[in-house]
Amino acid sequence: MSTIHKFDLLISEVGPRDGLQSVATTMATADKCAWIDALVAAGVQEIEVGSFVSPKLLPQMADAAEVVQHAIRHASVTIMALVPNIKGAEAAMRAGAHKITLPVSASPAHSMANVRKTPEQMLEQVRAITALRDEIAPQVHIEAGISTAFGCTIQGPVPEDDVIALAVACVQAGADESGLSDTTGMANPAQVKRLFTRLRSELGNQAGAAHMHNTRGLGLTNCLAAYEAGVRTFDSSQAGLGGCPYAPGASGNVVTEDLVFMFEAMGLRTGIDIERLLTARNTLARGLPGEALYGMLPPAGLPKGFKPHAYALRSAV
Ligand code: ZN
Repeated sequence: MSTIHKFDLLISEVGPRDGLQSVATTMATADKCAWIDALVAAGVQEIEVGSFVSPKLLPQMADAAEVVQHAIRHASVTIMALVPNIKGAEAAMRAGAHKITLPVSASPAHSMANVRKTPEQMLEQVRAITALRDEIAPQVHIEAGISTAFGCTIQGPVPEDDVIALAVACVQAGADESGLSDTTGMANPAQVKRLFTRLRSELGNQAGAAHMHNTRGLGLTNCLAAYEAGVRTFDSSQAGLGGCPYAPGASGNVVTEDLVFMFEAMGLRTGIDIERLLTARNTLARGLPGEALYGMLPPAGLPKGFKPHAYALRSAV
């Protein structure tokens, strides 16, 4: 959602969904809830807490409804869930999710591999899901996340016209917004700036989040490029959870700790307290012992004298 509330940016934490679904270990429900609580305590205002998919496909997400029901007790936080189809959408809405996100792939090859549907068939899902929403839960916000928007590991380059056309078609099909995802970590800053500039000129305030991956080390740079193109909502994962299977040793999602540090150091208010975010990282670590945690800020710590906002103001003097 383009609602920034009283802050300059909205950081949408996707770790409990995007991160955990890529990790082989299944985190216990109580540990997921404790992590979400710690993220809320740090000031995170939007959290994607689970995926409503078949537990046979993703046993890590079998408790999605339970986690949503826990998370929505935090009244001020937007609780999101990913749904691949209408069955999942209904379950997510009935569990009480405030917002649902639908992965719609711009690469037909990736779409078939990921959800066994063509992009056109996914548009039908968007239509059906928004119709269901209007009927049973009109307050729920629906986001289309255009995956493989910057390249596909199967198809290779994805034409920019296809990406923009699909994002626009999702909104025409009833989605409240369309964002762009670098699912495969292939984006570069020039491309990010170009695509989001086009997206925003086509969709205005229905242009959604930048979901960047750090697979090739360009995650933060790509977020900055998206910011310069006017994007104000960013998806990231605590500890960069969700390693990419195609790049061993590389983190998947942009690391929330590093992203928040970058923006706060620039004098932009995220609403997130970095010290408490590091506390939440410890809660995550306890729930997933032995899992690799990424990020540059956590081992280095905050710079001496660092104060959010004030730091940038002082530097400018
Ligand atoms: Zn991701």
